[in-house]
Amino acid sequence: MNASPIAELDLLLGNALSEISAAPNSAVVEQLRIALLGRQGTVTAQLKLIGAQPPELRKEFGAAVNHVRDQLTDALLDRSVEIKEEEQQAQITAEKVDVTLPGRGRHKGSLHPVSRTLRRIEKIFTRAGFDVAHGPEIEDDFHNFEALNIPKNHPARAMHDTFYVSDETVLRTHTSPVQIRYLETHTPPVAVIAPGRVYRCDSDVTHTPMFHQVEGLAVDSDISFADLKGVLVFFLEEFFERELPVRFRPSFFPFTEPSAEVDMGCVFCDGGGCRICGHSGWIEVLGCGMVHTEVFRQVGIDNELFTGYAFGLGIERLAMLRYGVDDLRLFFENEVSFLRQFA
Ligand SMILES: [Zn+2]
Repeated sequence: MNASPIAELDLLLGNALSEISAAPNSAVVEQLRIALLGRQGTVTAQLKLIGAQPPELRKEFGAAVNHVRDQLTDALLDRSVEIKEEEQQAQITAEKVDVTLPGRGRHKGSLHPVSRTLRRIEKIFTRAGFDVAHGPEIEDDFHNFEALNIPKNHPARAMHDTFYVSDETVLRTHTSPVQIRYLETHTPPVAVIAPGRVYRCDSDVTHTPMFHQVEGLAVDSDISFADLKGVLVFFLEEFFERELPVRFRPSFFPFTEPSAEVDMGCVFCDGGGCRICGHSGWIEVLGCGMVHTEVFRQVGIDNELFTGYAFGLGIERLAMLRYGVDDLRLFFENEVSFLRQFA
């Protein structure tokens, strides 16, 4: 025997309500709406059956079907609203910013170790009263060699491994030509340093085709070797931030007389001897001397009235000693992992 149509409607309502309350998302709710109340829906089908009921049941059945339809319409709407709220809550949770997490740092660049060293050198000499001058990197033969007492065919030219641009033009092999340019435009007393790039046709662990030098020059009426010694010892102690033994060894440069090479006590072994200093306890750091009278003659300075000293030092060399870098080429390969260590 068939169950009564009203009882079937109750069953339909009960099942549909539990399906609606279990719907996990809006898409399922929409599927249920179509399946129940759509044109082909089960409740819609029941509505069409009202007319087919026996007259005594028709009113009761019609009311029951409409009740089911209204109940399900409300239930579907309620479930949609609930799901929308759940979905919003889930989105808020997913997008929540955890303010206790550490910030995402930005990588800040830093000065290249050669630039840092150069700035440090400039600062020390500026404090000691020196001016800072610059000159061209493409230099003529006169300023790079001739005026510095290195005439053509002088053996000293062989020491320079020069890049020639033309017969009369070179990439400067040292910053000493800036001395000449400075003396051409300034009258003594002068005290100046000239930092910059220089070029030599040479490349190995301790040589690169381009490197940086600082030239120093002081000219006045009573400059002596003692002044030179004083300023260089002052500089080295300021640069390395400690007292250091310093010694001057007689040497030769065409543009100074007398000339000396300067050694300082090894900063790695404190003079005890190590691989860096070749177990001598001393490290050569710069060359210097009293300005040669021929250089004064070239720029028209009376060497009866004036004397002067000059020195030259390699910036990379000082950077290597200060930072403990043992391969010059590291400064020019621009490996970020190397450069970051100086930040
Ligand atoms: Zn040493």
